[in-house]
Amino acid sequence: MTDANALVQRVRDGDLSLHELEDHADADTAATARRRLVESDADAALDAVGSYGFPAERADANIENMVGAAQIPMGVAGPVTVHGGAVDGERYLPMATTEGALLASVNRGCSVLDDAGGATARVTKSGMTRAPVFRVGDVAEAEALVEWVRDNEASLRAAAEDTTSHGELDAVVPYVVGDSVFLRFRYDTKDAMGMNMATIATRAAAEVVEAETTAELIALSGNLCADKKPAAINAVEGRGRSVSADVTIPRDVVEERLHTTPEAVAEVNTRKNLVGSAKAGSLGFNAHVANVVAAVFLATGQDAAQVVEGSNAITTAEVREDGLYMSVSLASLEVGTVGGGTKLPTQSEALSLMGVAGGGDPPGSNADALAECIAVGALAGELSLLSALGSRHLSSAHESLGR
Ligand code: NAP
Repeated sequence: MTDANALVQRVRDGDLSLHELEDHADADTAATARRRLVESDADAALDAVGSYGFPAERADANIENMVGAAQIPMGVAGPVTVHGGAVDGERYLPMATTEGALLASVNRGCSVLDDAGGATARVTKSGMTRAPVFRVGDVAEAEALVEWVRDNEASLRAAAEDTTSHGELDAVVPYVVGDSVFLRFRYDTKDAMGMNMATIATRAAAEVVEAETTAELIALSGNLCADKKPAAINAVEGRGRSVSADVTIPRDVVEERLHTTPEAVAEVNTRKNLVGSAKAGSLGFNAHVANVVAAVFLATGQDAAQVVEGSNAITTAEVREDGLYMSVSLASLEVGTVGGGTKLPTQSEALSLMGVAGGGDPPGSNADALAECIAVGALAGELSLLSALGSRHLSSAHESLGR
């Protein structure tokens, strides 16, 4: 093994490329050498980037060309009581963010949810999708392929499930566009977010399609999946976990704790989250669900780019006899408690804080629990922000009425 300065010299001599350093030294030495090279080339100091608190080899599967770590402050909201299908009890929500006031706002929402006896949450649908695109000769061949898929789902399932000990193929749904056929494979990926698992399994199934039919695989992902892009199919069909949370807050709690009324909150929700979002052509009909999703994703090692579909949520609010009813439904929340970034040291600790690190018993229950906690956090965030808007409305109304 080589020390960092020797590695730097070999790159300078043209003997090694920047991405090859891990082949010649341990992960920390390679990162140090790369950082020194970059610092000198760019004439910039990366002292803070280089002060990370975990062995670089723990991030081997998560990063290439590592130079250090970006550190984001992490706080907690709660505890908040979650009455879920997979979690029942008080939970802290770890959130990593650079947005001041976010934790304070969600924390206030959590405290009010607890005053109302806690929030209910349920995962109502679960399934990770991958949709390869095949080329066929014409629409007659396309129809033949659709029929073949319907008749041969069992052999596709056998090929796909042969690649994984946890994943199960739930469905294959064909979509035809002229001479392009998309097969949308949906898997139960248990506690894994499942994008790698689903991709590997789908590759095996696609090989069967190519061997048994005239179809030619053009791309293993045909964008009808749809991963990391805003897409109506995720909002309608779901992807990852479809999860909802709700609560009914007594009128006196709304008035005393949030300084507003159920009527004001419901009106803000209708005019802002529903009418405003409709006018904007938005996919998300909510106030700031992305804030909670992004902060918990960063804290717990989820794939940050999936905040795109993770924040695809609808918030409802209505006045009931006993107070304010509110719900948040996230259509496509892709979360895991194993794999990906979840095993990194700080992210794994954050999952432990919620009691959901690693595989669940039964498999899938930890990822369900994480989804339910995020949904309750999103509900707390919506409640707090809508109430803040509602209380301003109320105070300005009082001001104008009182004069
Ligand atoms: P992964 O780290 O690739 O795999 C997780 C593996 O953990 C599973 O395949 C499974 O192995 C095993 N496992 C152990 N206990 C499990 C349990 N209780 N439940 C489920 N699985 C269990 O993670 P992934 O979730 O499939 O993929 C996430 C990664 O994909 C992230 O790093 C993300 O950034 C990346 N990603 C990939 C793509 C892509 O197109 N490939 C796209 C977006 C994101 P077995 O399968 O052998 O059972």
